[in-house]
Amino acid sequence: MSKVLIIGAGGVGQVVVHKCAQVPEVFSEIHLASRTKSKCDAIAKQVKDRWKRDVQTHALDADNVQETVALIRKVKPDLLLNVALPYQDLALMEACLETGVDYLDTANYEPKDVAKFEYKWQWAYQERFQQAGIMALLGSGFDPGVTNVFTAYAAKHHFDEIRELDILDANAGQHGQHFATNFNPEINIREVTAKGRFWENGEWKETEPLSVKQSYDFPEGIGPMNIYLMYHEELESLARHFPTLKRARFWMTFSDNYLKHLEVLQNVGMTRIDPVDYKGCKVIPLEFLKALLPDPGSLGPLTKGRTCIGNIVKGTKDGKEREYYIYNICDHQQAYAEVGSQAISYTTGVPAMIGAMMMLTKKWSKPGVWNMEQFDPDPFMDALNKHGLPWTEVFLKG
Ligand code: NDP
Repeated sequence: MSKVLIIGAGGVGQVVVHKCAQVPEVFSEIHLASRTKSKCDAIAKQVKDRWKRDVQTHALDADNVQETVALIRKVKPDLLLNVALPYQDLALMEACLETGVDYLDTANYEPKDVAKFEYKWQWAYQERFQQAGIMALLGSGFDPGVTNVFTAYAAKHHFDEIRELDILDANAGQHGQHFATNFNPEINIREVTAKGRFWENGEWKETEPLSVKQSYDFPEGIGPMNIYLMYHEELESLARHFPTLKRARFWMTFSDNYLKHLEVLQNVGMTRIDPVDYKGCKVIPLEFLKALLPDPGSLGPLTKGRTCIGNIVKGTKDGKEREYYIYNICDHQQAYAEVGSQAISYTTGVPAMIGAMMMLTKKWSKPGVWNMEQFDPDPFMDALNKHGLPWTEVFLKG
């Protein structure tokens, strides 16, 4: 029996609230706070109608540490679950330190003015969290999140040594829009327009954005799709925590149509994140573009098809070479029928709820700041099967 304070009433926040509501034995009291209270109220109403659970709602500017501290003192949660934007991570961690409350998020901190995906700012909180006797769980979404747990599970059960890791993120869904992103457009476009980066032989190697591609034949009838090498934040923690890895890469699918639009937007400067003077106002082109694009939430009823996200791990077991693929397939329409959101928000929100459940039931409990692969993967893997993200494993070799 515990009380959770969820911050952020966007696409992922909606799924998290629905999923917590389905587990009343753990989440006995649910609070939702976000910048726009009406969005919290709309989610609370859906959850009341569908799951007959009450959700208390609050307006909050999560950039303001003292405002969050005041809300935490009022609500007295056992855990703060951050599904606002990566910009709020540090302010929310500060508020947790000041009030002695555990913390969880799904994306690493990013400064607003430069697209940098690094754990260094959050890892720097390690000592302060340990001294305060509280825990922070970083990156409890799908990727990062489940992909970290998949790696830990492979290493624990199927390999003596893991040497190569490829994380493959495929969205084979269609929403019928000319151009739209499946989660927050600003965060998504910052990520895909950044340089590619992968870990090889003890160092990071950089590639031009989306310049390395290949085709991969995805399982269960999804079929061949183009995958593009990108940098993704879990590579940093996985390369650190699995030092036997000689190579670690991340790949994502993009349709030709998505890339065509992105190229034009980039060429005309619409993806810039530095302020531009327009008639005496400072405008950040990417923020303005976000205002023009479809709200990812509106894609829920339109999106059909499936996602397939998983890891291919190569290494050795009992002196023999082994190649292993573990993945989840999630259906956009099934996700929408259950929680009113498409699969991208669903695959992030479910692991956020499960990470919170691991912490609140003390299956994962240790003061300090941790990544997902630093805990026993088994209870998390069981929970994925029970709460809507079942996984499949295939031995490709050995
Ligand atoms: P959305 O933009 O849909 O939602 C973000 C929410 O946070 C909005 O409700 C927004 O409020 C609120 N918010 C923003 N700033 C503040 C603030 N200062 N104070 C209070 N609330 C604020 O994003 P998503 O739901 O798509 O994504 C949520 C998080 O999940 C992001 O950090 C994203 O990077 C992460 N993510 C992680 C993935 C993973 O697999 N690990 C995959 C996909 C996303 P308002 O409605 O008023 O704008």
